[in-house]
Amino acid sequence: MRLISSVNEMMAWAKEQRRVGHTIGLVPTMGYLHEGHLTLMRRAKENCEKVVVSIFVNPLQFGAGEDYEEYPRDLTRDSQLADSAGVDVIFAPAVKDMYPKGYSSFVEVEQVSDHLCGAARPGHFRGVTTVVSKLFNIVRPDIAFFGQKDAQQLAIIRRMVEDLNMGIAIVGVPIVREADGLALSSRNVYLSPEERKAALVLSQSLKKAKELIAEGEGEAERIRQEIIKVIEAEPLANIDYVQIVDNRFIQPVERLEGECLIALAVRFGKTRLIDNLVMEVSPNDSHDA
Ligand code: AMP
Repeated sequence: MRLISSVNEMMAWAKEQRRVGHTIGLVPTMGYLHEGHLTLMRRAKENCEKVVVSIFVNPLQFGAGEDYEEYPRDLTRDSQLADSAGVDVIFAPAVKDMYPKGYSSFVEVEQVSDHLCGAARPGHFRGVTTVVSKLFNIVRPDIAFFGQKDAQQLAIIRRMVEDLNMGIAIVGVPIVREADGLALSSRNVYLSPEERKAALVLSQSLKKAKELIAEGEGEAERIRQEIIKVIEAEPLANIDYVQIVDNRFIQPVERLEGECLIALAVRFGKTRLIDNLVMEVSPNDSHDA
């Protein structure tokens, strides 16, 4: 496995791969790799001849007062893990190479970014779509892999690729969880043992929602209130948002129909965690209780 930190070197490597006819898969990450990231990498390896994993804690997607400085970083450990997953290149550029002096170009995807984390973290998705566009231009992958864990991000990237005719296939990979249900996240290391236990309300509340929908509940607000009840029963949990939207345009729905996304953001102390559930609901599945 090769470690590349220069943008020009990355472009040259990718160009050579394309010249010899290799397909390239890209897995964008912020590093501090865990099994969720590794699942994306293995999926990429199954589908592409060469796999590039980018590791870049992108300052542009962090707001003032967020955890840009504290975000965990360990390139040595990440390199070993990526190597074991069959990755060909880790691309870990420096901030000044990605955003040199005078940098002025940004990519913004409207509407799909109106709600959820788009509303809770102003400027966040502008940072994400800008860096992902740059990574796409640098690597020019055939396929890029993103986790369902960041459901709104995935919907926004799909929209961007379609709207801007980027010609890159986007593969979404299901959420990887701990045995007890907590979705894996690099930010889980921030949690104290008490907060780690409390964080189980995320997956528990989604499980409750799933049960309600299976019983025929189709009214979004009622499901939302039940989720809120489960989360609020945990004293260490502070809700940022609980929302039910359609999974493509990420707009609030009143009744569950088609592919719906139930998305949560909850704080435990200083740590903000997200989780979600995608449900395909046919109109006949739900009825008024
Ligand atoms: P991050 O390093 O947190 O920016 O994540 C990089 C990629 O890994 C994103 O596409 C995430 O959605 C994905 N990812 C993070 N955690 C998980 C998880 N638990 N399961 C599946 N994918 C994940």
